Amino acid sequence: MVVTRFAPSPTGYLHIGGLRTALFNWLWAKKNNGKFRLRIEDTDQKRNKQEAVDAILKAFNWVGMHWDDEVVFQSERFDIYKKYVQELLDKGLAYKCYLTPEELELIRNAKMKGEEPPIDIRKYRDFKGELDKPFVVRFKTPLEGTLCFEDGVKGKQCVEAKEIEDFVIARSDGTPTYNFVAAIDDHEMGMTHIIRGDDHLRNTFKQMLIYEAFGWDMPKYYHVPMIHNEKGAKMSKRDGAVDVMEYKREGYLPEALLNFLVRLGWSHGDQEIFSVEEMINLFDPKDINKAPSRFNKEKLDWLNAHYIKNSPNERLEKLLRDDFGVDIVNHDKKEILIDELKERVKTLKEMALEIEKILTPPSEYNEKAVKKFLKDEVLSNLREFLVFLNAKDPKLPPEWHDVMDEFLKLKGIKPKFLMPPLRIAMVGDTKGIDLAALLSVLGKEEVKKRISSLLA
Ligand code: GLU
Repeated sequence: MVVTRFAPSPTGYLHIGGLRTALFNWLWAKKNNGKFRLRIEDTDQKRNKQEAVDAILKAFNWVGMHWDDEVVFQSERFDIYKKYVQELLDKGLAYKCYLTPEELELIRNAKMKGEEPPIDIRKYRDFKGELDKPFVVRFKTPLEGTLCFEDGVKGKQCVEAKEIEDFVIARSDGTPTYNFVAAIDDHEMGMTHIIRGDDHLRNTFKQMLIYEAFGWDMPKYYHVPMIHNEKGAKMSKRDGAVDVMEYKREGYLPEALLNFLVRLGWSHGDQEIFSVEEMINLFDPKDINKAPSRFNKEKLDWLNAHYIKNSPNERLEKLLRDDFGVDIVNHDKKEILIDELKERVKTLKEMALEIEKILTPPSEYNEKAVKKFLKDEVLSNLREFLVFLNAKDPKLPPEWHDVMDEFLKLKGIKPKFLMPPLRIAMVGDTKGIDLAALLSVLGKEEVKKRISSLLA
């Protein structure tokens, strides 16, 4: 059975790069009817584990991704790790290192200057005795030879064994280190495939040595290149490397975000739109791109617009109410309003703002528009239109069209002497949804009120 995982360090929230990693793992598990598991790597930060899980849970819930089995917390597994440390000590594959912080400092400084360290980091590798001093446990890495593994994305990866120093697997306070516990947990949790950021590629050699030391099979690794910003540099907060939930607050639909993320580093021909089912069917980690992907906000907006356009109105209504406090659930022309707006907006937030702009009488009128369209003779047209309306009862957009047409013909005037002024009276500006739809949504009484306000 295929088993994948997402193994975040609890940083407080799930960011966009993390969600992409999780998505790739989740898709691969789903495609193979396997399992997608979650592990919180909280060996350093025991305190905030609940918040970390809550934040991730919230984001996963929002995008509709769920994990299998219990969440594994590394902070609850220290006894297990201790047992494995002991096993390596017993087998002579690891050793207690008594180098003092001062000695380590000397080694570090010499290395930084490119000089030969005055003390060998492996000083205690073959030491047989016990000292009554604090110690760390180091893993005995091979002194010669080449270490290689076949990466599913990048192909064969090798390193000279001597480049990997005897790394610490347990600190002096007994707590285990990342590379050690990651390998142990990936084995114990039954991982078959590990898809993760290529910032972990070098760690794989250390994890591989741990696997070998215990005689375990190594999972298949896929190291995914980073997501870059539009300039080709590392993503920052300003570029959108933020909490996944921030995208919800900005009015993105989860399926748009997932569709956007799946294309960051993976492709299927030149197809851009993928439903979740399609992603599951088509995704294969071997098709992950070797080059870093670029975060393109316009693409995200374009996808979001697509998914908004294709969402049932009822869903949009609910989201507008729940996420943006814009309640049009009982508005009798809500269908017209949403039908119009869903064709135009990029985000739900934009939709919410547009709706508020339409439903709230304008508090001011755009100066330029007023200067251009509201000449004196035009104001008299509006005055007459107000009276003309009294004898009419337009409700739906086509009826409003007819009323305006009739008025134009009667007066023998061009549309620009009625339509833009009317729109300014309604929303203070000349831009917006189809005018007849706008008037229909507002209803005759409100239309009259807004014309009167403008004329007052
Ligand atoms: N906890 C690591 C991180 O958040 C993940 C390591 C891994 O996927 O093996 O970067």
